[in-house]
Amino acid sequence: MEVSVTIAAVATAVAPGQGSVAIVRISGPEAEAIGRRLFVAPGQQLWESHRVLYGHVVDPASGERVAEALLLLMRSPRSFTRETVVEFHCHGGLIAVQRVLELVLAAGARRALPGEFSQRAFLNGRLDLTRAEAISELITARSRRAAQLAMAGLDGGLHQRIGALRERLLDQLAELEARVDFEEDLPPLDGDAVAAELAAVRGELEQLVAEARQGELLREGLRVAIVGRPNVGKSSLLNLLSQRQKAIVTDLPGTTRDLLEIELVLEGVPLTLLDTAGIRPTTDRVEALGIERARQALAAADVVLLLFDLAAGWTPEDQALRELVPEAAVLLVAGNKADAAGLPVGLVPAGAGLPAALHFSALTGAGRQELVAELLRRCGAGPIEGLQVALNARQRDLAAVAAASLAASLEAAVQQLPWDFWTIDLRAAVRALGEITGEEVGEAVLDRVFSRFCIGK
Ligand code: GDP
Repeated sequence: MEVSVTIAAVATAVAPGQGSVAIVRISGPEAEAIGRRLFVAPGQQLWESHRVLYGHVVDPASGERVAEALLLLMRSPRSFTRETVVEFHCHGGLIAVQRVLELVLAAGARRALPGEFSQRAFLNGRLDLTRAEAISELITARSRRAAQLAMAGLDGGLHQRIGALRERLLDQLAELEARVDFEEDLPPLDGDAVAAELAAVRGELEQLVAEARQGELLREGLRVAIVGRPNVGKSSLLNLLSQRQKAIVTDLPGTTRDLLEIELVLEGVPLTLLDTAGIRPTTDRVEALGIERARQALAAADVVLLLFDLAAGWTPEDQALRELVPEAAVLLVAGNKADAAGLPVGLVPAGAGLPAALHFSALTGAGRQELVAELLRRCGAGPIEGLQVALNARQRDLAAVAAASLAASLEAAVQQLPWDFWTIDLRAAVRALGEITGEEVGEAVLDRVFSRFCIGK
């Protein structure tokens, strides 16, 4: 596809006083001409592709030196966008870089939209859609495992998996369509074998859909609300998990009044821990506000960790709290202070007036590992180590559509309907998989995908 407008943006994160290098990136047919107009390179430096030039960005109107910079020229098609790309690598900071960008815009480039460079890379066949999305995911990764998954996507792991499934469906579709038109000229088709192949592909798709949940957790993280009566050890648990003394631990009930948010990564999964003020019936206005926040935290959480004090046993207050937890929430009840109660740590079934719970000690750290593992398991994060590729939400929805279409196609097989009844849904499945990789995708979808990217990417 021919894209004729030259675009430009600051490609690095810029803030005053931060970042030692800032890059202004230009892509399109005018990129080199704009570079030559604004850049003065002393001596005999050659304007060759993939060579770095040293010099200054100069305002052509006034002759003023605006920035000291390196210029990198990458002529089409050997660039990220496959268009000619010029990058000014300037000293970091904000003001000079903004001025360089303004000069570039004044020289004829248009400000790039979020993700527009990547969109061009896709449109020019440099990247398929799953790889483009992986780039964005790499940039936003909040944990090492999330970054690894994004790199796997960037290496084409997802494209290969989905592409191979789509090929298998296309093979079956070709056989079926041939029979629709030329049944009598061709050897008979084994319907059972076709159905078995469709079922096998459907099974793989369903597995990918199921695994997508784990990928989502790795990318987006999990919001965990920690609730419990005052003094059960919520702050101590936060400290234990974060291994930093961020939450204030005190002996006075009701001191954790504000909702405390702590971001951390456990077993490669990014978590936001929401500590809540001790929820309990109260007449204290300040504390009542805290309770209101706790209710909000409960509503916003993916998983609720309800703490109680094993030394004090399961009290009516604990039970009242248990009943505050929304039906839909994933709940893990955990008994703290196992040391004081003289109880073993780990998952313990209900008994002796206590609910089924994971016993641990925030003070000694015993049972910490079991607690984290159980927390992740309950949220479907399970053992994430083996996960090689993971669909994002867009891809997962399409894989689910493809799986459902295959189910409908298999229904035609069960009912022994003529071949053309099989092909309708099979074609829909092929289309959905093509939309994942970008082989069959409309402009509106593309705009939506790339608009989630950052500017300059
Ligand atoms: P919060 O009000 O729920 O945040 O509870 P804190 O974390 O402030 O803990 C209240 C008190 O219980 C503090 O004196 C802690 O030292 C103590 N505590 C917390 N966890 C344990 C534990 O596992 N064992 C024992 N023996 N004491 C604990």
